[in-house]
Amino acid sequence: MNTDMLIGASFVAGTEIEEKILNPKTGETIIDLPEASLAQIDAAVDAADKAFDRWASTTPAERSAYLLAIADAIEKDADGFAALEALNCGKPINAVRNDEIPAVVDCYRFFAGAIRTLQGPVAGEYLPGHTSMIRRDPVGIVGSIAPWNYPLMMMAWKLAPALAGGNTVVFKPSEQTPLTALKMAKLLADILPEGVVNVILGRGDSAGNALINHPKISMVSITGDIATGKKVLVAASKTVKRTHLELGGKAPVILYDDADIDAAVAAIRTFGFYNAGQDCTAACRIYAADKIYEKFVADLAAAVSTIRYNLADDTQNEIGPLISKRQRDRVESFVARAAEHSHIEVVAGGKVASENGFFYTPTVVAGATQEDEIVRREVFGPVVSVTRFKEQEEAIAWANDSDYGLASSIWTKDISRAMTTATKLRYGCTWINTHFMLCNEMPHGGMKQSGYGKDLSLYALEDYTAVRHVMIAH
Ligand code: NAD
Repeated sequence: MNTDMLIGASFVAGTEIEEKILNPKTGETIIDLPEASLAQIDAAVDAADKAFDRWASTTPAERSAYLLAIADAIEKDADGFAALEALNCGKPINAVRNDEIPAVVDCYRFFAGAIRTLQGPVAGEYLPGHTSMIRRDPVGIVGSIAPWNYPLMMMAWKLAPALAGGNTVVFKPSEQTPLTALKMAKLLADILPEGVVNVILGRGDSAGNALINHPKISMVSITGDIATGKKVLVAASKTVKRTHLELGGKAPVILYDDADIDAAVAAIRTFGFYNAGQDCTAACRIYAADKIYEKFVADLAAAVSTIRYNLADDTQNEIGPLISKRQRDRVESFVARAAEHSHIEVVAGGKVASENGFFYTPTVVAGATQEDEIVRREVFGPVVSVTRFKEQEEAIAWANDSDYGLASSIWTKDISRAMTTATKLRYGCTWINTHFMLCNEMPHGGMKQSGYGKDLSLYALEDYTAVRHVMIAH
C-alpha cells in the first residue's frame, strides 16, 4: 500500500501532524498518515506550475490517450482498488466493485472522448476585415479537494475533466479517506508526465486552507459542506480564482396520489440508503400525498427494516457504516431531536447498530413537518423523513423551500403533472419515476447553496476551460 504523497515525480511522506485512518466497520486504526507541510504544498503547486506549459500544449488526442491509459490501468487493478476503498470507507465490496469502479473507469473514458469533440461558434468575419475565432484553453493549476463519501469517484469527477481540458492539478483527498487516492498516485505517476497531477494529504483547515489560498492556484474545485464552500469563496476572492462548488443536498421526493407505490418504495429503499445515506442526492425528504400516505409509510418502514448491513458475509451487505463515530453521533442526535416531537414517529430503525464500528440502523421518520429540523437539514446518514401533503402546489412549494438545490424526484403516472412539477422545481436535477441515476454524459451539479459548476458531461469541460476570443485583422 502506497502511503506517500506525490509531488512532481517524487513520493514523499508528509512531515506534519498524523491523522488516524480508521476502518469504519470496526473503529480500528488502519494506519497513521502525516499531513503535508506548507513547504510540501508549495512544492506540489510548483511542480504543477512547471508541468503546465507542456501539458497545456499537448493535443486533445494525446490527452485522450493518457486518460484512456488511466482508465485501463484502473480497470486492470479493479479488485485492488475496490478492496482498498471498501476497507477505508466501510462500503460493501460489491457496491464498490460492481457500481463505483465501472463508473470511475467510464468517467475517464468519457472525458477522453469528449475533449476531442468540443464545439462552439464558427470562426468568421463578425467585423469587416477581422476574423474571429473562439478557443477553449486550460484555466491553469486546479486545486481539487474531495470528500469522504466516494473517494475514487470524486477523484475521477475532478481529475478527468481538468486533465482533459489541459490543466495541471494538485489534489487533496479527504483526511479520512486518502488510501485509494494514494494508490491512484502510483498509477498516475506511471502514466502521466511529471507534475501533471500531484497528491497531497492533510486536514481541511490546514492543508486544504493552504491550497485554496495559494496564489498560483487558478481554480478551486471542491465537493464538501456548504460551510467549506463559503470558505473557498472567501479565499478565492483574494486572488479572484475560478471556483467549482458541489456542496451537498437534501433531495425532495414528491409522491403524488397516483404514484406506483411499490416502485417508489423499492427506489427509496435503495436510493435513500445507498452508501448509508452518505450521498448528496439521497432520496431523503419524502412528501407523500394524503391519499397514499398511510400505505406508503407502512410499506416503506417494512421495506427499510429488511436492509442488510453488518453481516459477517460482506457479499450479503447492502450498506455499510457511517464514515466515523462523529458522523454516527451526528446522525443519532438528529433522530433523537426529531423523536422528541409528539407529531413524529420513528417507524423503522432509530438506533446505533454496533458497539465498535460506526453502523446506524436504516431509519424512517414519519409525520415530519416542513419546519422540522429533520426535513430542513442534511443528515448525511441512513435516515429518510416522510411529510404528508394535501395539494400539488403545497408539495412543490415545500420541495423548493430549502437552502439546497441539487437533486429531486417526482413520482406520478400523469405526464402532464410530472412536467408541470419538473418545470417548477429549483434543483440541478429532477428525476421522474426514478431517483439517483447518474451517467457520465449528463451534468451533475446544484443550484442555490448546493453550489454551482457541473461535474460530468460536456458542461464540466466548459467549467474546466476558459473561453477565449482571438481576432485577426486583415
Ligand atoms: P467537508 O466540507 O468537511 O470536507 C470536504 C473536503 O474539504 C475535505 O477534503 C476537507 O479536508 C476539505 N476541507 C474542509 N475544510 C476546508 C477548508 N477550510 N479549506 C479547504 N478545504 C477544506 O465535507 P465532508 O464532511 O468531507 O463531506 C460531506 C459533505 O460533502 C456533505 O455535506 C455532502 O453533502 C457533500 N457532498 C456533496 C456532493 C455534491 O456533489 N454536491 C458530493 C459528495 C458530498
